Amino acid sequence: MLIRKVFLIQGIVQGVGFRPFIYRLSLENSLVGFVKNGINGVELEVEGRAENIVLFEKQLHSKLPLLARIDKIESSYKELLHGKTFEIVQSSDDFTHSKTALISPDIATCDECLEDIKKVGKYHNYFATNCTNCGPRYSIIKTVPYDRKQTSMQKFVMCESCEEEYTNPLNRRYHAQPISCNNCGPSLRLIVKNEELKVSDGEKFAKVAELIKDGEIVAIKGVGGFHIVCDATNDKVVSKLRTHKNRPTKPFAIMCKNLEQIKSFSHVDEKEEELLISKEAPIVVLKKNKDAKLSKLLAPNIDRIGCFLPYTSLHHLLFEHLQNPIVATSANLGNEPVITKVEDIVKKLSFIDFVLDFDRNIINGVDDSLVQVVNGKTQVLRLARGYAPKVIKLPFKSDKKILAVGANAKNSLAFVIEDSIILSPHVGDLDSLEAFEFFEQTIESFKSFYDFEPEVIVHDKHPSYMTTQWAKKQTKELIAVGHHLAHIYACKAEFGLTNDYLGFSFDGTGYGEDKTLWGGEVFVGDKRKYHFKPIKLLGADKAIKEPRRVGLSMLFDALSLEEVQELDLETVKSFSHVELKILHQSHTKNLNAPLSSSVGRLFDGIASLSGIVQKISYEGESGLLCESYYDEKIKKTFDYTIIEGIIDIKIVDYMLKNQNDTKELNSMFINTLVKIILDISKLEEMEVIFSGGVFQNKTLLALVSKKLESENIKYYHQQQTAINDGGIALGQAFYYLNKTVL
Ligand SMILES: [Zn+2]
Ligand SMILES: [Zn+2]
Repeated sequence: MLIRKVFLIQGIVQGVGFRPFIYRLSLENSLVGFVKNGINGVELEVEGRAENIVLFEKQLHSKLPLLARIDKIESSYKELLHGKTFEIVQSSDDFTHSKTALISPDIATCDECLEDIKKVGKYHNYFATNCTNCGPRYSIIKTVPYDRKQTSMQKFVMCESCEEEYTNPLNRRYHAQPISCNNCGPSLRLIVKNEELKVSDGEKFAKVAELIKDGEIVAIKGVGGFHIVCDATNDKVVSKLRTHKNRPTKPFAIMCKNLEQIKSFSHVDEKEEELLISKEAPIVVLKKNKDAKLSKLLAPNIDRIGCFLPYTSLHHLLFEHLQNPIVATSANLGNEPVITKVEDIVKKLSFIDFVLDFDRNIINGVDDSLVQVVNGKTQVLRLARGYAPKVIKLPFKSDKKILAVGANAKNSLAFVIEDSIILSPHVGDLDSLEAFEFFEQTIESFKSFYDFEPEVIVHDKHPSYMTTQWAKKQTKELIAVGHHLAHIYACKAEFGLTNDYLGFSFDGTGYGEDKTLWGGEVFVGDKRKYHFKPIKLLGADKAIKEPRRVGLSMLFDALSLEEVQELDLETVKSFSHVELKILHQSHTKNLNAPLSSSVGRLFDGIASLSGIVQKISYEGESGLLCESYYDEKIKKTFDYTIIEGIIDIKIVDYMLKNQNDTKELNSMFINTLVKIILDISKLEEMEVIFSGGVFQNKTLLALVSKKLESENIKYYHQQQTAINDGGIALGQAFYYLNKTVL
């Protein structure tokens, strides 16, 4: 029996090879009809034998292209039209519709393209090989519609053979906008001490590999920016890189030849493996083996290592000549955005003598994503290449266009259009002019992608955040949201939660609403009900870089100056007598000593008092060090009290009465945080949310999760969006929606 069926398919179905997929499937099942992009999704009609259409419907799901996702299918029957062919209809709606269609993130080179590189032909050893299932997207798009003309591939004219692939619906590269080959695409340049080396591409890769083996530092262009690369097993060059980048201890991520190599020096569980080989190819933070044959300087004193796999054809071709893993860190100065142009490498990173560059411009810079796995669940630490732009679907529609501008550190942006919150990739720390320009540029890009002009701008309450100041200059409706509540709302947004929860919002030092610095806050619904006992931060901002100032302040809270001077503690010994006196005065007279309830600072305090570290060089360092001293055999906790909502852990009291052991103090501290969270959760009898940078602490989060599970208390923490300040924009947007739409 012949029938004709009409379908409307919604989901990620545009720019992902969906229509050619339908075309192929129809031909395979001897169906006629058409497919086109419509206003509400992909529309198609198929006509043929009923059993063939049943099979076609099954295969819609089972053979779906890699990047496509079907959210909803509506179908109905129609009278037969007795057509002869199946067609892909180019509709005028293609363009209007794509204005709100998702811009796809950049995707790692697929297996089929890797095979093409190895085979004889126009893709043989070609560094920019890609297809509809892989390759650059977000990083090369100037504006929509997503079409070659609107990308940085515009200047490359397709050769006849590429053109043929591009226009053949049966080809894997049908409408792959960045399609190119050895004959027609971007070309590779190797610059050696300001001079271009004129050799074949193969020789360029061999030369770069040789330089790396010889202990040189090379800048290599990737998808969203340049990497600075060197041999990850060579202490001398890693140390040199640290000096040049002025980055004494902050861990470097390494790119590895293959999965086997990663497994040879770290522990990789099933979920971690899945992430490493995924099409997003993020950096995955793994547990390093003690005897790992890697430079000790990659992540000093920390038992973790961030690893990722080659994700462009270029990387794969380079690794054909390399055996060792390589440091692959974003090319930038300090906290500036990743460098995307070779001129800026020359201008800003003068220590670099060797650059592997190519002439496809990066339009939108984007960093590598960073993830870890806690209790079998992904935790995104940096949402960037591969994941962003990311869409969070709302259970309702917003009739206003909303822009949320996020926090000052780890900034990201959120755009609300109808029933979607679209998250930008990680923008970064906004403490340089370059970073702020990148922030503004990202807003402009998204405005152009989505034909977006915000009616409402949501910002942090911190008056001196660059984001707040920027928001106040715009003539739009403005809403300010407290930083720590925004963390809770970010989690609510990810899971579509709209009730009241018990929210633990723990991070570094953020703006508080009572003239103190917050960071250890417990909310019941939107109300702050508990917080940690504030500590005086001796020297204000200086205390954030020097845990010893926090440790000392905790000692001064309990003891006199004379008593403190007599203690045999690294915290005390790291100061001169004069310094101790001055800081004691500042403590008693509250001079330059703002109060902070931050749990991040408590981690600093315990790290200092237990003697692990007195000065740190990157945010979160003491938390990571504290974790590496955690001993699961130690079950003890410190005493603590909660009086009128103020949580006070008796760390110094314990230290004065006991022999102090580094492992014990650090383990007890984490155990105590777990106990406090559990005790309050039992008391409040509500479902629980954890958010804020402190919950990047894998040990803490894993222990808390287990305890709550054993008590049957339901809990949530972000998995697909950043749990640190990178999630603030999402929280701000969702807070506004909750107050206005619901
Ligand atoms: Zn491919
Ligand atoms: Zn070509």
